[in-house]
Amino acid sequence: MRTVSGIQPTGNLHLGNYLGAIRNWVRMQDAMEESGGECFFFLADLHAISQYQDPAELRRGIREMAAALIACGVDPARSTLFRQRDVPAHSELAWLLNGTARVGWLNRMTQFKDKSGKNREGASVALYTYPVLQAADVLLYQATHVPVGDDQKQHLELARDIAIKFNTDYAVELFTLPEPIIPPAAARIMSLRDGAAKMSKSDASDMSRINLADDPDLITQKIRKAKTDPEPLPDDPGLLDGRPEARNLVTIYSALADEPVKDVLARFAGQGFGAFKPALAELTVEKLRPIGARFAELQQDPAELDRLLKLGAEKANRVAAPTLGGAYAALGL
Ligand code: ADP
Repeated sequence: MRTVSGIQPTGNLHLGNYLGAIRNWVRMQDAMEESGGECFFFLADLHAISQYQDPAELRRGIREMAAALIACGVDPARSTLFRQRDVPAHSELAWLLNGTARVGWLNRMTQFKDKSGKNREGASVALYTYPVLQAADVLLYQATHVPVGDDQKQHLELARDIAIKFNTDYAVELFTLPEPIIPPAAARIMSLRDGAAKMSKSDASDMSRINLADDPDLITQKIRKAKTDPEPLPDDPGLLDGRPEARNLVTIYSALADEPVKDVLARFAGQGFGAFKPALAELTVEKLRPIGARFAELQQDPAELDRLLKLGAEKANRVAAPTLGGAYAALGL
């Protein structure tokens, strides 16, 4: 078994990124290791430029995301972690696959329609061919399994269609058809100031989010000031309906403690936020302390980060080479 998964590099990482995305990678790494498989994880910096990025911000975001992934438990000694840009085979294979992918197939991709919106004519060509680069990302490594959320199912289907057509057109058995794995539903973390808005790096108020770099005092202060309601906590998760702020704090507790919401409520039912918030702050500080410390350490040592990413890239280049070579040969190039 081999899984391949990418994440776009962004900066200002927060608890939502950790619980909603990064932690899933750590779990996948553990699960794959148990079943004798391996994980390829990459920073999708080539995908990132399908929309304009400020170059300095992008450079900073790449380092920050790499530091966060490692701090949160993605282990470069157990998984292959690299930057997409460091493995030119991604770009090369994407171009070769552009010869196989059909315009009609790409025209059906709903994500392009969503992301380009009313400005289709003004969208970049990269945004349009993004799914072909994604196909290259996974086919290059003979991935057997690819974790996909709902929004990515269609792109994995496309990768399979491209693989089938290429193998058929050129009478080769080059590409493995990757199967989807549906990751366990990730927590969706909301703003601490507004239970209806997602916790996000782009929220103007820093009090709305807990950053991976926040120190314990700041975390405690943000949780103390988080918006809530005057009611005590219920014993039944259904009774959190209509109480988005209360639901969010309980969700955060449940995700960090790795305990179902109903078990959290069983412990705190009848208590108000005066009791719940300190417990939540303590738990958050305890869970984020080692992550924050390693994160800061890595960010202050870019040479070490670059060294780890280089090792990952060397391995990825090695594994990718035969598939890329096979594609060139099949095409008569
Ligand atoms: P932001 O919304 O802060 O700009 P991104 O869009 O860069 O975050 O998201 C990076 C990853 O983190 C994505 O996989 C996304 O699903 C996840 N993520 C971001 N915010 C949240 C959140 N509030 N709750 C859960 N997951 C989140």
